[in-house]
Amino acid sequence: MLDTTANAEVQGVLDTFGAALERGDIDAAVACFQDDCYWRDLVTFTWNIHTSEGKAAIGGMLRSQLAATKPSGWTIAEGETASEDGGVTTAWIEFETGVARGYGLIRLIGGKIWTLLTTMVELKGHEEHKGFTRPLGAKHGAGKHRLTWKEEREAEARDLGYTKQPYVVIVGGGQGGIALGARLRQLGVPSIIIEKNERPGDSWRNRYKSLCLHDPVWYDHLPYIKFPENWPVFAPKDKVGDWLEMYTKVMELNYWSKTTCKSAKYDEQSGEWTIVVDRDGQEVVLKPKQLVLATGMSGKANLPTYPGMETFKGDQHHSSRHPGPDAYRGKKAVVIGSNNSAHDICAALWENDVDVTMVQRSSTHIVKSDTLMDIGLGALYSEQAVRSGMTTEKADLIFASLPYKILHEFQIPLYEKMREVDAEFYAGLEKAGFWLDWGADGSGLFMKYLRRGSGYYIDVGASQLIIDGKIKLAHGNVKEIVPDGVVLQDGTKLEADVIVYATGYGSMNGWAADLIGKDVADKVGKCWGLGSDTPKDPGPWVGEQRNMWKPTKQEALWFHGGNLHQSRHYSQFLSLQLKARMEGLDTPVYGVPETHHLG
Ligand SMILES: Cc1cc2nc3c(=O)[nH]c(=O)nc-3n(C[C@H](O)[C@H](O)[C@H](O)COP(=O)(O)OP(=O)(O)OC[C@H]3O[C@@H](n4cnc5c(N)ncnc54)[C@H](O)[C@@H]3O)c2cc1C
Repeated sequence: MLDTTANAEVQGVLDTFGAALERGDIDAAVACFQDDCYWRDLVTFTWNIHTSEGKAAIGGMLRSQLAATKPSGWTIAEGETASEDGGVTTAWIEFETGVARGYGLIRLIGGKIWTLLTTMVELKGHEEHKGFTRPLGAKHGAGKHRLTWKEEREAEARDLGYTKQPYVVIVGGGQGGIALGARLRQLGVPSIIIEKNERPGDSWRNRYKSLCLHDPVWYDHLPYIKFPENWPVFAPKDKVGDWLEMYTKVMELNYWSKTTCKSAKYDEQSGEWTIVVDRDGQEVVLKPKQLVLATGMSGKANLPTYPGMETFKGDQHHSSRHPGPDAYRGKKAVVIGSNNSAHDICAALWENDVDVTMVQRSSTHIVKSDTLMDIGLGALYSEQAVRSGMTTEKADLIFASLPYKILHEFQIPLYEKMREVDAEFYAGLEKAGFWLDWGADGSGLFMKYLRRGSGYYIDVGASQLIIDGKIKLAHGNVKEIVPDGVVLQDGTKLEADVIVYATGYGSMNGWAADLIGKDVADKVGKCWGLGSDTPKDPGPWVGEQRNMWKPTKQEALWFHGGNLHQSRHYSQFLSLQLKARMEGLDTPVYGVPETHHLG
């Protein structure tokens, strides 16, 4: 189909759809969708992150939200052209609501909407000051006793949290807290980031010394400041730490390092939190209206309890506390677990002449980094993608536009291809006795990440060490820890001077239990996962990541985090939700799911 025909087709649908919405004719609006259809909304209609699946759900959402949303101006986005491929017509779109400007992606099949993504870009009258409206910086003219930028910053740092209260407190100053803090700063939302570590970036620096990012640079940019063109594809963790520290400074974040959040309590009457923090030895009480826990999706260590642990004579620690191999040269190590951290740690131990055994308790999904970059991410996040005009922002939106309900259908063929390309590699792993899986439905790594946040290794070399028998492999669950090693359920004894528990991380509402109380943690329930009814992601289906970046069952409590891509992308929508509340806009939330799982 010629682009002009595709344009006309899309604009025709948008005109009909827009007109139906404007006159409140929900049946006519729903009739623009085909039977198998999805509308994913990031904040514009639902003040939530929500996917309506099917015509009935779309009708239900509109009946609840349309009157308050007042959408208008549906059009193909400026400078964009619709395209047609394999019977699907796709176009970038723009629209407005009563309070916001929106951007999205529409896919049509046979002239009807198959998928619709609507996302909030900015709140009218509360736009970020950029481009033509960027700050002047200098103060031209003259005025007595006027303050310099530095003096103003110092005054802000002195007053905020003491004589002036922030609107938002973000607990956790890793990449999640930092990215959100940067967006809130640009939106003029007074915020403080609380971080117990010494310096921004320490959450990466403190991890095992061999760690490099598993995701490539094109996937990892923070908002506002992109990594330079000569930044490594897979940045070493200390380099990421330094970048975050630099970013925190130049983005003018109010970042309280060496500060631990001790407790938080919400007063429903006043709509205010009382947050007690220890700032470098001094107790400070903060009274924000909103509390964001950005305390780490991979932050709450899952340390198993095995009989006899207290009798072990050597070192034993969770992978998040593993110092690296140096102290263990010439010794025996047992690493319990077989996902990313376990593989990275085993490889570094082997490189440093440690006799290392990995204990595989259940099957693991393995994908070679090069193959994943090529087949899994290449079209959106790669140098080739950049060269062909793909921007980070567009890549994020294309990714976001594929509804979770059907995302696995797009993923399965990619992983089938990876399996084919690396058939010899997988045969080698199986021959070495490694238990492999491809996710419950063969949909591979990304679905495992979204569903359970674990269960995989992106291979950067450790698998070959397993194939070659250089990293030894044992199977099964641990029966007990004895003074000089680990005994497995089948009676196998593995001698050890050091045991590393690479046993993963708990749900983020565990942080809420620690800081606010078990009642609140139980009220909001489990964070992460989609309800896919696959291992570690129990049903029922909820259609979006539980509790992340959106309203929870606890008023004024939010969770933020995830990988660098998610920290970047979803901080936009969380910051706009917070800004709208600060400005007192009406934010009728649609579709907060019931809590089904406690954690
Ligand atoms: C080994 C490993 C490798 C990973 N590799 C990648 C990768 O390649 N790419 C990628 O995108 N992601 C990766 N991740 C996943 C994820 O991106 C990281 O875990 C990332 O650090 C998450 O950022 P965050 O800001 O959500 O949490 P964190 O970085 O964990 O930050 C949370 C912060 O909260 C602070 N905190 C917690 N409680 C309190 C309190 N009470 N008071 C004050 N401060 C508190 C902590 O000190 C911490 O600094 C990896 C994770 C692990 C464990």
